[in-house]
Amino acid sequence: MTEKNIVWSESNISSEEREKALGQKGCVVWLTGLSGSGKSTIARELEKMLFEKGRTAYILDGDNVRHGLCSDLKFSDADREENIRRVSELAALFADAGLITITAFISPFTADRRKARKLLSDGRFFEVFVDAPFELCRERDPKGLYKKAASGEITSFTGIDSRYEKPLNAELVLETGILSVRAAAENIICLLIERGIWGK
Ligand code: ADP
Repeated sequence: MTEKNIVWSESNISSEEREKALGQKGCVVWLTGLSGSGKSTIARELEKMLFEKGRTAYILDGDNVRHGLCSDLKFSDADREENIRRVSELAALFADAGLITITAFISPFTADRRKARKLLSDGRFFEVFVDAPFELCRERDPKGLYKKAASGEITSFTGIDSRYEKPLNAELVLETGILSVRAAAENIICLLIERGIWGK
């Protein structure tokens, strides 16, 4: 709820000035997919490749924000919604600061991803579905979470006893069972260039 006595404080620097200084437009690359689908791995590769190209990018990662900003939240539907709400607001601020903001969150619910998109102006939000079959994610199990979910040690785990709503209108779908990490990151970079986030 917006408090009626709080007003938005305008910066003395315009978005255009900021973008000119950075040589890029602020935006959000929103990676969504099952645990183990490859979001964090691709985010790190993408950030590194952008850095090498002289771009300014930063990752907001699911596990990292749950250590701090969202450490009070668990994995119920309501807490997942609140987790994504906070991250969406943060991502929009980072994009306003001119950064190519890469988010790596399961973000299983369509409605929450839609709200995240709405915080950005048109053409500044790129939903990227990191698509790997459930079986493959369970096999990879990079954090041992599928094993824990199978033994009942953790509950409300996406794909097992909590739902994942596949994106239907993502700007990009990356099939990580087929694509290499590098190719996945390159695909995102092509999309950003194509959409004019920076000049060639
Ligand atoms: P998430 O962030 O979606 O939970 P992670 O990136 O933590 O997933 O883990 C994905 C795992 O799958 C890593 O161990 C990574 O090395 C592996 N992997 C294999 N092939 C790919 C690929 N093409 N893209 C991304 N990750 C891959």
